[in-house]
Amino acid sequence: MDSCEKKRNQDALIDRSGDSGVKGIISKGAVVQFGLQRLFCVSGRRILVGLGQVGSRGDVSGKAPWPPKTPFMNYREWRNRMKERADQYFGSMVFGDEKMREYLSKDTYRQLKETIRVGKELNLDIANQVAHAMKEWALSEGATHYCHWFQPMTSITAEKHESFLVPSSEGIALMEFSGKELIKGEPDASSFPSGGLRATFEARGYTAWDPSSYAFIKENTLCIPTAFCSYSGEVLDKKTPLLRSMEVISREAIRILKLFGRSDVKRVVTTVGPEQEYFLVDKDLYLQRKDLIHTGRTLVGARPPKGQELEDHYFGNLKSRVSAFMQELDEELWKLGIFAKTEHNEVAPSQHELAPVFTTSNLAVDQNQLTMEIMKKIANKHGLVCLLHEKPFAGVNGSGKHNNWSISTDTGLNLLEPGDNPKDNAQFLLFLVAVIAAVDEYQDLLRVSVASAGNDHRLGANEAPPAIVSMFLGEELTEILDSLVDGTDYPNKERSSMLLGVNLLPPFPRDTTDRNRTSPFAFTGNKFEFRMLGSSFSVSGPNFVLNTIIAEQLSRFANQLEQAKDFESELSALVKETYSKHRRIVFNGNNYAPEWIDEAKRRGLLNLVSTPEALPTFIHAKNIALFEKFGVLSSSEMHSRYEIVLENYCKTLNIEALTLVDMMRKQVLPALSAFSGALARSFLDKKAAVSSLSLSYEAGLIAELSNLADGLDKEVALLEQQLLEARMVEDISSESYFYHDTVLAQMAQVRSLCDTAELLTDQQYWPIPTYESLLYSV
Ligand code: ADP
Ligand code: MG
Repeated sequence: MDSCEKKRNQDALIDRSGDSGVKGIISKGAVVQFGLQRLFCVSGRRILVGLGQVGSRGDVSGKAPWPPKTPFMNYREWRNRMKERADQYFGSMVFGDEKMREYLSKDTYRQLKETIRVGKELNLDIANQVAHAMKEWALSEGATHYCHWFQPMTSITAEKHESFLVPSSEGIALMEFSGKELIKGEPDASSFPSGGLRATFEARGYTAWDPSSYAFIKENTLCIPTAFCSYSGEVLDKKTPLLRSMEVISREAIRILKLFGRSDVKRVVTTVGPEQEYFLVDKDLYLQRKDLIHTGRTLVGARPPKGQELEDHYFGNLKSRVSAFMQELDEELWKLGIFAKTEHNEVAPSQHELAPVFTTSNLAVDQNQLTMEIMKKIANKHGLVCLLHEKPFAGVNGSGKHNNWSISTDTGLNLLEPGDNPKDNAQFLLFLVAVIAAVDEYQDLLRVSVASAGNDHRLGANEAPPAIVSMFLGEELTEILDSLVDGTDYPNKERSSMLLGVNLLPPFPRDTTDRNRTSPFAFTGNKFEFRMLGSSFSVSGPNFVLNTIIAEQLSRFANQLEQAKDFESELSALVKETYSKHRRIVFNGNNYAPEWIDEAKRRGLLNLVSTPEALPTFIHAKNIALFEKFGVLSSSEMHSRYEIVLENYCKTLNIEALTLVDMMRKQVLPALSAFSGALARSFLDKKAAVSSLSLSYEAGLIAELSNLADGLDKEVALLEQQLLEARMVEDISSESYFYHDTVLAQMAQVRSLCDTAELLTDQQYWPIPTYESLLYSV
């Protein structure tokens, strides 16, 4: 392809298009002006301009003129025009605050906002008006259907579409949508996992509108974010516990803030910015791999000669198909009001990342679900497949999701932002030690919240945070806390009279440059980054856990401080006491170092290396008591979740093993036989022609491949046998251990033989696309 290469521009709006501006046809000799630089295009045919996404945008949308009317195109002018356009369509498919004001009467708007603010139930009268407004807006945007959009315990979202169209008594078609339909839906819930909560005879569940999340239009359908419950009221989705946990942490944080004299705060919200990693592979190649199709990851595949050793992929030039994908993805996300911010290549070849601007937890959860869904759809349009699996390729970096988390007030105060004065600093330190205590006390819950068959390949491997939960605070902050507890560094004798002695503290570090990328839970200046999540996860689970465990600490603190005779000395004692009790969880060193495992053990930290090991802790008495205390989940809801996750683990491994068996029996073993057969024939032909030839290459390889095939056949048979045995295991926990210890280990055995064989086989005989072709296909 002809190309005029140019350094990529990092500007937020422009850089998505990367180097893809392929589409423009410019007359020979045309000059395209980019700020001070000019590109002179010699080809006169199709050109690829480094920043020539000018052209591709024009072509794709048909709105921006390209080629420009004059041969000179002022880049800045063009960029401003593009900015306006993005501004215009940003959020156009969301029934957000602006649309509410536009479509609702002042009074209804006010009542709806109040309902959302205090979290009370919506009355039918307002619901009818809101439903009408939503319908009018949706129809004006071309929508024909509506659906209750919810997040069941599977990893995807669910929706049941209904048409707005209803026949009137006169036989004409009317477009209707009532308040009742907005508030409550009744999907047939029998196909969603319930972990035994819902007997099959009572298959129905119901969905209820969550007015705090915005409705949006997706593919001509008005989607109404809802919570999903069984008829008897048990929660069957991922959203409800999150909403409950947000209430709880708000309530407890407000109690604390009152003590610091902040009675103006009416609501505290948690905020989340999930950074999403993913792989893009060529669709044609993908379709030739049953493992990718059925399991989302490669079950076999020898390492390519060039992996990520050179680390030259990172921020490398985006390939044209990828940038076309990113451009369209951005536009779709922007329409849905999702601020997608940066997309660049990750460490591994074919890996990328998308970071949205953070928002309140419940919206962040919705937006992340939508992002994953839209990523897959758009990739498909570009002849690509978006892999969200945590470990699509062995030996290559896996994909995670960094859950940036913070907590702020409705008055605009980030409670994890170090303050400028002693009082604010003390308040910051109190919230900080609340997080420290929560993470230490509930390491198990945090670990469970990120446990899955896919993520087991990542956690603990030499790339991701280990399975051990610990926290990074940075040296300065750790020293500050250490000195508070140890009483060191305080030459000033008056310190007891001062609030926490904070007058003496150096300004708190706001600089986030010295981040420790290996830590599973890092303080990054004004937020925490929980890095253990798998890329395919709903961020709901980890966040309802975080909110609840921190609410618990805040609640204890509030209980103690509300009774205090002397607030300041009690506060000071509480911070010190809490930190000294939980400081073992703070580790600023290299979490990937093998020594850390021993050190963590010495500190008494948990190391729950696999899902079967982690999951049972979810239903430990202390954890059930916690969730019940705050009404986030009941004991039976927790047991059902425990079963659903473990069942899912076993099913995933079962599907993987069956797929592996199928690939070996129908593709790899026949290929080995065919290739060694061809070698044997060639051996005989050559021998017949020249009997003195040694033919050691053919002879050696025939023997080696045949031995490998025999071995592989035996190992596959054993795996099949184990899959039968797995069915006999009675309880779910033993079954999950069986899959982990026996089936997974045997799959590794099969893989190792298969990968060895791949390296010896003529590529024309190898029946599945190799790592090399997959990783360098786009
Ligand atoms: P990186 O981790 O790549 O260095 P940044 O520090 O810029 O990136 O931020 C990463 C993510 O953290 C972004 O998605 C951003 O929106 C989110 N984030 C920033 N502030 C907050 C906050 N107060 N609460 C939650 N998320 C936040
Ligand atoms: Mg990050």
